[in-house]
Amino acid sequence: MWICTKCGRDFKSENQSHFCIDPPTTIDAYIAAQPEPVQPFLNLVRDTIRSVLPDAEERISWRMPTYWKDHNIIHFAAHKNHIGLYPGPEAIVHFSD
Ligand SMILES: [Zn+2]
Repeated sequence: MWICTKCGRDFKSENQSHFCIDPPTTIDAYIAAQPEPVQPFLNLVRDTIRSVLPDAEERISWRMPTYWKDHNIIHFAAHKNHIGLYPGPEAIVHFSD
């Protein structure tokens, strides 16, 4: 068991990634809550998505930055050692080849 020294919550694994305070409700807050060295990469992902989905609404869904227009189009998320990119099923079908 590991106890976060900032918020006092206990976790099964050491240095478990979590939000010490309430989860962020905006993408700005989400990125600001990540480790500083990771933030430029998250901003790059965000800027890239915004450039191709200018009409999509930014929101937090499933605790991840999400681009939404009638439905969730794509999410991204910071993990301990990588950034996850989660497109919807249409993109997976489109790029399956
Ligand atoms: Zn904590």
